[in-house]
Amino acid sequence: MKLRNFFALFLSLVLLMGLNGCAPGANSSSALITVKLKKTQELNTRAAAYWSESKKPQQIGEPVSVVEYAAPFSYGLQYPKTGYQSVDDMIAQAVAERRAAFDKKYLLPENLPESGKPSADTALFLRYETYLTEDGNLSLVLFEREEPADAAPVTQLYILHYDLAAGTAQKPEDLMWERFRENASAYTQKYFLETEPYKKGLFGDYKKTLASDSSTFDRFALTDDGVLFYFEPYQLFPGSYGLVRLTIPYEDMRAKAAPPQAAPDIAGFDAEKPMVALTFDDGPNPRNTGAILDTLEQYNAVATFFDLGSLVERYPAVVQREIALGCEVGSHSYNHKDFKKLSNAEISNDVKAVSRAFQSAIGQEPTLFRPPYGNTNQRVNGQIPMPLVLWSVDTLDWKSRNAASVMAAVKKAGNLDGKVILMHGIYESSAEATAQLVPYLLEEGYQLVTVSQLIEAKYGETPQPSKLYGYDYFQ
Ligand code: ZN
Repeated sequence: MKLRNFFALFLSLVLLMGLNGCAPGANSSSALITVKLKKTQELNTRAAAYWSESKKPQQIGEPVSVVEYAAPFSYGLQYPKTGYQSVDDMIAQAVAERRAAFDKKYLLPENLPESGKPSADTALFLRYETYLTEDGNLSLVLFEREEPADAAPVTQLYILHYDLAAGTAQKPEDLMWERFRENASAYTQKYFLETEPYKKGLFGDYKKTLASDSSTFDRFALTDDGVLFYFEPYQLFPGSYGLVRLTIPYEDMRAKAAPPQAAPDIAGFDAEKPMVALTFDDGPNPRNTGAILDTLEQYNAVATFFDLGSLVERYPAVVQREIALGCEVGSHSYNHKDFKKLSNAEISNDVKAVSRAFQSAIGQEPTLFRPPYGNTNQRVNGQIPMPLVLWSVDTLDWKSRNAASVMAAVKKAGNLDGKVILMHGIYESSAEATAQLVPYLLEEGYQLVTVSQLIEAKYGETPQPSKLYGYDYFQ
C-alpha cells in the first residue's frame, strides 16, 4: 500500500514536471484544461475498449454512450435505448441508480484517496447485452466495472427484465417456472462436473453455489435458445476462467422430476438373526464387479463396495448398478495412495475428488471410507468426513487368486455373525468365489447386509464420521 502511494506520488510529480516542460510559461488553468482534455481522450479509449467486450450485434436498441471526466469521478457508461418509452425510462433510472451507488461508495472516507478528495481517476464503466424472447421479454445484462484510483478493479453484473409490450419491469421470480431452480441446479452440476475445462477448475463450496436454493439461479437472462446463467470469476472457478456463461436449453429447464426410484427389493433382515457384511475393494471393474453383481442380484443379496474415485469416473454404470441393487458404496480414495503419507491438504483434495466422482456417477456421496492398505491413524481419521471401516475376516483373495482358497479362509474364520469380510472386486477368482460364497452363507443362515446396516443392527450404532471401525470392532 505504501509502495503504491509512493508510486502515485512519483507519477504526479513526473506529470507536473512534464507539464512545465511542454507548456513553458502557460498559466495553471490552461494547463488544467490540457490535462482534462487528455484525460477525457484516455477515458474515451478505455470506455470504448470496455464496451467492445459486449456481444455484437445486440438484439434490440441503440446504444446511449456517456463519457464524463471528473464529475466528481469519471464515467464511461453505455446502455440501450429500445424505443419503448416507459422501458427506456426505467433503464435510464437503473443506470442513474448504479451511478449514484458508485458515487456513494467512493465518497466513503475509507475509499477516498490519500488526499481525502474524490479523484477523477476513480472511474465507473458500464456496458450491456440484450436478449429478447419471442414473447417480448427483454433481459438486460449490465456489466459494471469500478476502477478505483489506487486499488484493484471491481466487477459486478446485474440483470433486469422488462415486458416490452406491457412496458413493465419484471421480477426474476415472476419469470421462473416449476422446477426452474431444481433443473438449473441439476444441469449445471452435471455439466461442470463432466465438461472440460470446467471439471478440473471447480473449486470451493461449488455444491452450495449450485444448490437449487442458491441465489446463483436468481440471475439469468431469457434468450432464444434457453436460460443463460452467468458465473463470475471466483464464484465457481479460479479467476483465470473469467466470466463463465452457460445456456441451458428450455427443454432441460422445463424437465419434469424423475419418477421416484423404486426401492430396491431387499429382503428385510432380522436384527436378532446372524448377519455378515461382504465388502469388495479396489473396483469398480466392468467385468469382475459385474459378475459379482450378477451373483448378488441372483440371490437378492447386498454387499458393500469400496470404490476408487478414479475408476468411478471411468465406469459410472457399474457404480450405478451397485446402487440400484441396494448395495452400499463407500470410498477407497481416489487412486489408492497411503493416507498416512499424505498431508491434511492432500487428504482434503482426495476427499473432494472422490466426492465429485461419486456425485457425477450416482448423484450422492460415499457413505463410508476404507483407507487403502487399511493404513490410518488419529490424524487421518480426523480429516475424513466419513466413518472409516476396516474388516475382521481377510480372505487374502488378492494373494491366492483362487476361489477355493477364499472359501477355505471364510470357513476357517468360524462364527461370522457381526463380521466384515474383505475381498477385492477386480479379480476373476474373487468373482468366482463370490458365486460360491453367497449361497453358502445364506444356507448357513446368515443374512447378508451392508456395513452400515451391520453397524446399526448388530452394534446398535449410527456410523459416525471420522470414527474408525477397525478389526476389533467387528468381532
Ligand atoms: Zn485397496
